[in-house]
Amino acid sequence: MVEIVAPRKRECERCGRVDEWDPDKQTWSIVTKDGTKQSGNPHCLHEWDINGTFNPLAE
Ligand SMILES: [Zn+2]
Repeated sequence: MVEIVAPRKRECERCGRVDEWDPDKQTWSIVTKDGTKQSGNPHCLHEWDINGTFNPLAE
């Protein structure tokens, strides 16, 4: 049995920014940790670890 799970979190492989999926707003929001937004480098083009290559069926 295969269960497809939509990504709920993504992390930039370049600057370390972390986003979380907000199902209510249907958008990504920056994760806040210890009162600090994990926004990474604002000039980064962001290489999301799920971007384009996310495959829930991957082995
Ligand atoms: Zn980045």
